[in-house]
Amino acid sequence: MTVNKPWGIFCSTCLVMLSPFLSFGQIKDSLSVDKDLFGERIGKIIQEVNAFYQNKRKQELISSSESLRFLEDIKEERMPDKNPPRVDYSNDHWSSEKVNPYRDVKLSTPFKIEFNQNTFTPPVYGDMVITSRFGKRRRGPHRGIDIDLVTGDKVRSVLEGKVRFVGYSRGHGKTVVVRHANDIETVYAHLSAYEVNVNDIVSEGQLLGLGGNTGNSRGSHLHLEVRYKGVCIHPEYVFNFDGSNAIRDTELWVTNGWKDPRAHSSYRPSKVAPLKNQKDAITAQNNEPRYYRVRKGDTLSHIGIKYGLSVRAICKLNGISQKSTLRIGQLLRVR
Ligand SMILES: [Zn+2]
Repeated sequence: MTVNKPWGIFCSTCLVMLSPFLSFGQIKDSLSVDKDLFGERIGKIIQEVNAFYQNKRKQELISSSESLRFLEDIKEERMPDKNPPRVDYSNDHWSSEKVNPYRDVKLSTPFKIEFNQNTFTPPVYGDMVITSRFGKRRRGPHRGIDIDLVTGDKVRSVLEGKVRFVGYSRGHGKTVVVRHANDIETVYAHLSAYEVNVNDIVSEGQLLGLGGNTGNSRGSHLHLEVRYKGVCIHPEYVFNFDGSNAIRDTELWVTNGWKDPRAHSSYRPSKVAPLKNQKDAITAQNNEPRYYRVRKGDTLSHIGIKYGLSVRAICKLNGISQKSTLRIGQLLRVR
């Protein structure tokens, strides 16, 4: 049997409506006709036929429209040529050996990043549950965003690009790095399996690997980083994860505060106000917190003189007492 349109052989609306009344075998029969077109994806749908109706994590029923969206997503994933790549990706600091090949590059802030489009594709299917954000946390700075998933869930590229790195990295575990237009890179960490190779051109939404718990990870999740020339940027400054799938702007200025995890908490959202020109970015940066790392012999009054602050003002900024003992290496906020 020849099938011209992939979904022409059955109506997905009917399938979703009928599924509760069909036995597993009947559904399998009605879908298996399309097996040549959809291969294992169809197999996945059949296995998870209940997932269209029951959100397993929350034990809640989900609507048929949500399940249809899921089917649409899979259909798009299987048609990566819909948007053929338009861009030559930069070869600058191209390395398939290192997650970050830009260690010799020093970027001064604010700097500009640019996008060729206004929207992105979420890296996971379904509702995005953010479990940890870019910012300070008890275990140290967190330079990405953690998105909940179940091991084996599909992880896909947020934008079209060229795969630069596929491999195991200490901390990140199994990792894929994709370079996009204008030297933006996205990093997908803690994966359980890879579905791409270095130098592959991937379309937006294309499968990169399967989610997991590899590397320094507690429980399955996706750790997603957004980088520009090796510098991690607060992902939510760039991508709006509120369901709109909007890129904040095609031209964004990144201040020190949007690349410094100390300026944010990983436990709560930061207020995002996109900076769209250099002048606004410089003004904003001049008002951002500034930090000083305590050296041997420093006292609060010595640091205060250096930054034009009273001892009381430093203590207030840092929530410490005037009698507290300074540690070498301790970070003090001085603005
Ligand atoms: Zn993380």
